[in-house]
Amino acid sequence: MPKISERLNGFTESVIRKMTRISNKYGAINLSQGFPDFDPPKEIKEALVKVAEEGPHQYEITWGSQKLREALAKKQTKFMGISIDPNKEIVVTCGSTEAMMVSMMTACDPGDKVIVFSPFYENYGADAILCGAVPIYVPLKPPEFNFDKEELIRAFKQKPKAIILCNPSNPTGKVFTIEELQFIGNLAKEYDTFVITDEVYEHIVMKPYKHNYMAALPGMFERTISCSSLSKTYAITGWRIGYVIAPEGIIENAKKVHDFLTVGAAAPLQAAVLAGLNLPDEYYESLRELYTKKRELFLKGLDEAGLKYTKPEGAYYVMVDISEFTNGSDMEFCEWLAKEVGVAAVPGSSFFKEDVNNYIRFHFAKKDETLIEAVKRLATLREKAKSRKI
Ligand code: GLN
Repeated sequence: MPKISERLNGFTESVIRKMTRISNKYGAINLSQGFPDFDPPKEIKEALVKVAEEGPHQYEITWGSQKLREALAKKQTKFMGISIDPNKEIVVTCGSTEAMMVSMMTACDPGDKVIVFSPFYENYGADAILCGAVPIYVPLKPPEFNFDKEELIRAFKQKPKAIILCNPSNPTGKVFTIEELQFIGNLAKEYDTFVITDEVYEHIVMKPYKHNYMAALPGMFERTISCSSLSKTYAITGWRIGYVIAPEGIIENAKKVHDFLTVGAAAPLQAAVLAGLNLPDEYYESLRELYTKKRELFLKGLDEAGLKYTKPEGAYYVMVDISEFTNGSDMEFCEWLAKEVGVAAVPGSSFFKEDVNNYIRFHFAKKDETLIEAVKRLATLREKAKSRKI
């Protein structure tokens, strides 16, 4: 067989998706790969039924249907507080996974440097390698997951082409403050760097925290490539509808990358999701309340099980410290947890560039009854861990 591309030696399969397979194997409650076990709003499901009859079933315009871009521009103009042009400043993608890849390929040439905060959502490492970029990792130091300003300045001094900013952050649950965003933004201006954001959890921010958009900071729109998706906002992770928002000069190039990568997101789903974008503002407020309550329910369970964690401010993940149970492999610990305790988590080491093995990530985007059963099982962890051979 001819030799496979060297690029693929740089990364492994997704550990998050692997944990879902392990969870299924043991019939565990899957709190690893982050997706809800509850339905999208009924308006969206009804629209999907209607679309099955009425279409569209053929290609949409490659960069997204006119109606969807208009609806997205309207919603994002309101939430971001900056005016977005539906015809020039948006491209609809197959999830934010494609949005990030398109952004990286639009911004970077092979050999360019890209700053990535660590721990990071595992796709960014693979994205960088696939477009030939070289990551510079800047730690978000546990347990608070804050960055050191001097370290970030040192990274910018290496003249990166872009910085990736996941805010609210997966896996840490950190919501970057406006001061932190200004600090990052000022460095991006000083060193002429793109900021590529991943803001898929923009509407999942616990009270009293607030999501601030990098693109909306003074002077930042021109260098910010904002990626997001509708997956988390409307509980439709399988629909794969995401988007990139950026100035016209960036979007006209991003459209080319997107067109040749995927042609376009699924046309019927683009039509059906309009029902979500037409929901009133109260929907987003109730989403925030829903996840604030789910966080309380799950964290109370972790407290009762005597587990140590960093309280998330946004997204739907929590990093739990497992150092009292093991100083060995966190992957093995997660396998054991799925098999013996019946709850699946993601080993933290898959998110860290540094050698950190004492965290696992749970997500809490599940029905209350699922979370209640999960914490009941986790209450047995301490006792079961005593007989575990490390
Ligand atoms: N973003 C989700 C997570 O971090 C799902 C990842 C995926 O498999 N696409 O778990």
